Amino acid sequence: MLKFLSYDVVFQEVPNEVTLAINISGCPNRCRGCHSPWLMEDAGEPLDEAALARLLREYGSAITCVCFMGGDAAPREVERLAAALRRANRHRLKVAWYSGRQTLPDGCSLQRFDFVKLGPYIAPLGGLDCATTNQRFYRIENGKMLDETERFRKEEKEKFVNPINSSTFAVTK
Ligand code: SF4
Repeated sequence: MLKFLSYDVVFQEVPNEVTLAINISGCPNRCRGCHSPWLMEDAGEPLDEAALARLLREYGSAITCVCFMGGDAAPREVERLAAALRRANRHRLKVAWYSGRQTLPDGCSLQRFDFVKLGPYIAPLGGLDCATTNQRFYRIENGKMLDETERFRKEEKEKFVNPINSSTFAVTK
């Protein structure tokens, strides 16, 4: 079962979206230089339909997107929850997945997602906003993965950042 340790409403993880980012624990990826080592622990609350519904009751009217941050230990469960989210919201909310894997799992249904980020964190290469990054951010359109990593580059950021001058506001649990 997936578990989550925290959540934030964020503005930069998915360009042009106000995103409820759910930080999933139990990460199996063991990236050297991991920026969030506490997410490797098997800890937190179960992430299931009931937990999602509770979060959406609280934040659903303020957000445009939900992002599963992690979940690589149980990718089918991420897919299943993404599908449940789509059904519950009749596609009003976009759905994103930040995976630390290099590729999507075999048989993954792209239709469950509007955005997917792939690639482990390699500290010397930096994150999505670094020109040297190994990570890729894709928009899913008509079953195709369109590489939009360039949108995170510092010189492009100003065009896409939310007008509220912060990447996070105080709803971290
Ligand atoms: S995927 Fe993220 S949380 Fe998991 S080990 Fe890599 S940097 Fe850490």
